[in-house]
Amino acid sequence: MVDARSWGERDAAVVWHGFTQMASYLDNEPIIVEAGEGHEVIDVEGRRYLDAISSLWVTTLGHRVPELDQAVRDQIDRIAHSTLLGNGNRTVIELAEALAAVVPVDRPHFLFASDGAAAVEQALKIAFQYWVNRGVTGRSGYLTLGHAYHGDTVGSLSLGAGGFGTDLFDPLRFGASAPAAGSAVVRAPGYDDPDALAVAVRLVDEHGARLAAVVLEPLVQGAAGMLVADPGAYGPLVEACRRHDVLLICDEVATGFGRTGTLFASEQCGLRPDLMAIGKGLTGGYLPMSATVAADRVYQAFLGPDLSERTFYHGHSFSGNALAAAVALRHLQLVDERQVLANVRARAATLARLAAERLAPLGAVADVRLCGLMGGVELAPPADGLRWGRRVCAAAVRRGVLLRPLGDVVVLMPPLTVTDDEVERIVDTLAAAVVEVAGSEGPMG
Ligand SMILES: *Cc1c(COP(=O)(O)O)cnc(C)c1O
Repeated sequence: MVDARSWGERDAAVVWHGFTQMASYLDNEPIIVEAGEGHEVIDVEGRRYLDAISSLWVTTLGHRVPELDQAVRDQIDRIAHSTLLGNGNRTVIELAEALAAVVPVDRPHFLFASDGAAAVEQALKIAFQYWVNRGVTGRSGYLTLGHAYHGDTVGSLSLGAGGFGTDLFDPLRFGASAPAAGSAVVRAPGYDDPDALAVAVRLVDEHGARLAAVVLEPLVQGAAGMLVADPGAYGPLVEACRRHDVLLICDEVATGFGRTGTLFASEQCGLRPDLMAIGKGLTGGYLPMSATVAADRVYQAFLGPDLSERTFYHGHSFSGNALAAAVALRHLQLVDERQVLANVRARAATLARLAAERLAPLGAVADVRLCGLMGGVELAPPADGLRWGRRVCAAAVRRGVLLRPLGDVVVLMPPLTVTDDEVERIVDTLAAAVVEVAGSEGPMG
């Protein structure tokens, strides 16, 4: 069975793909991956594609990294998983110690989960209970930003700004229908508004006494289509949080582990959050693992008598999975050993230069937004509903570069170890794909 079509049919018969209309799944010619090597994925017919979306933003050093493969093998000879509920695991301790040395959080404590959404969910519940444990009432609101995306569980969806067809869930989202009620979500603008952070400061001043936390994606709003903030603009918001004693939650699920050129984007923004969510790149894209990082002052509020109400009654079956922890630990070492952050900064410069030369001038390109190796190329379709994002990405895939859009924004998210030649190939392939699709729609500049 080597035929992609028949694998596609078997796939569509039994697998329900997220964020995908299954009725037209096969029409969009999905690639069915069988293997990977370095920066490429290989489909069931042996065709290779440069993975320019890092398997939806999780892959950092590429596929089948020998050292990461070995870390899995070594761990599997010890144990694959043992529960962290009430007990410990040696590899997880080693991972938490290694992470503690590098996260921008004061004396951090790690509550592990499997998905970014779960890490955000844990953070928002911890923030809520922090105030309860301290005997402070009325602190159940959250200030979040326009265009925010924090995941797809009901809690994380509530912090998010909606979109992507998720608006029908509004009745399930807390705070959305009754913004005046206690558990309100107060929303400042997103990073497309240069005043976003200034407005956030005003809102914290206005609503501070009923806010449990401010929640934001530091530096880049990824799912919003790569909206980039001025890293120097966060100071007044930090001050406002301090003034009103509001916790700061940074969602680094997308920006963490080197994506923006520093290990965490919070570092560039001068942020030291009380709670931080990490996920995606934590295991180099190998295994599902996320974590909520709590500063000591938050953690301390949960200490009390055994079985008391101060305990955080929340936990996931696969919290602190040992296989994932082993890969995450080795990954963290490799990011250092291979000087990955330096590569991100150098390749980001190449990407910025080539995108300015070869993408921005195209009439069918409205905007190019880049931060480190996170990029968004916003297309300018002459009319709505042309699905240019989808069609441009399909044209790139036919040319051997795997891309996936967010609406009409083509996401560029190459592995952090990408080379200059690969960056050039991605840019040139995207330019050709844009010309192919826009050209067929009539004359463009
Ligand atoms: C992807 C993402 C999430 C959700 O992570 P999942 O692992 O998909 O649940 C949360 N926040 C941000 C900023 C993300 O980019």
